[in-house]
Amino acid sequence: MSRPTCAIIDTAALRANLQRVSACAPTQRIMAVIKANAYGHGAIQVAKVLEPQVDAFAVACIEEALPLREAGITIPIVILEGFFHADELPLIAAHQLQIVVHSATQLEHLLNMKLAKPIQVWLKVDTGMHRLGFAPHEIEAIYWRLQQCPQINPPIRLLSHLACADDRQDQTTLVQTQRFMTLVNTLKVEASFANSAGILAWPQTHVDWVRPGIMLYGVSPFTDTTATAEGLQPVMQLQSVLTNVKYCQPGESVGYGGTWRCPENMPIGVVAIGYADGYPRHAPSGTPVLVNGKRVPLIGRVSMDMITVDLRTQPHAQVGDPVILWGNNLPIEEIAHSAGTIAYELLCNVSKRIYQLSV
Ligand code: PLP
Repeated sequence: MSRPTCAIIDTAALRANLQRVSACAPTQRIMAVIKANAYGHGAIQVAKVLEPQVDAFAVACIEEALPLREAGITIPIVILEGFFHADELPLIAAHQLQIVVHSATQLEHLLNMKLAKPIQVWLKVDTGMHRLGFAPHEIEAIYWRLQQCPQINPPIRLLSHLACADDRQDQTTLVQTQRFMTLVNTLKVEASFANSAGILAWPQTHVDWVRPGIMLYGVSPFTDTTATAEGLQPVMQLQSVLTNVKYCQPGESVGYGGTWRCPENMPIGVVAIGYADGYPRHAPSGTPVLVNGKRVPLIGRVSMDMITVDLRTQPHAQVGDPVILWGNNLPIEEIAHSAGTIAYELLCNVSKRIYQLSV
């Protein structure tokens, strides 16, 4: 590693967060959501840590599932978006991947395809998100059609996704739960419903399987609580170093567009991280950065490969000093809030250029 910028992945924190899932949903099976490269944490490494203690993994698409099989992951892998083209189905069958069936087009492809091996499916119910899935009144008929299909290995399970569970006051979750539970009780089938917010705040959504994503990575799914308050430990620490320290005069501007001007003679620190690494370009001046463990404000625009910080409170800081962009003492939720986004987006945007170091 030449560029001193990396993401430290704390595997003990990952395991501890999984324990938190089990504490909230002690009798449920766990489908750990590791799509989007495990929310930027490295899907294969995360899968290897979690595999002994979870019942399945969930990814978005076949491109995310196959590398896991190639890396030796043997437990069930569920593809949340199912498939986009019928010609993916033989590969899905060959690698014993499970699919979520959520549209009439997928259903027709599945029912008309001849496969060497049958596949396992999850039938998606649209209980209120209104993106993917069949309306509750359509489910029974589709379920029985799939039951007759020799291409499909029983059991056929039901799955739905919560739209507003991150708001503890929003009644949508209760409406969705009522719709989903009516079907689950009628068909008497295995089902999966709760995401992280459901696991932490809505016990009535804990059916046979839970699907934690963001909480595994030590981030609160709620806007009004911190990870610590939810009993979660941040897994990723994004860090770099000062690569330059400059002294600027009053009135001199810093960075593209000259959006920030020095009010006095002052030291400016340059840090080797930028938007090409996934640091949010829209983070404004004032966004906190830790230099030598102490907060200093970001100044000027975020560039592709670097940012600049105000070192007035750290006049002795030097090239090579450690910088933390988010992690244990600097919650990613705070950086996301400052940049006008959510921690999910920051984590998923961590680029391939960032070296990942598991500890
Ligand atoms: N289930 C589905 C279908 C999802 O799309 C996601 C994430 O987007 C999850 C579960 C996990 O959600 P969270 O990361 O909020 O726990």
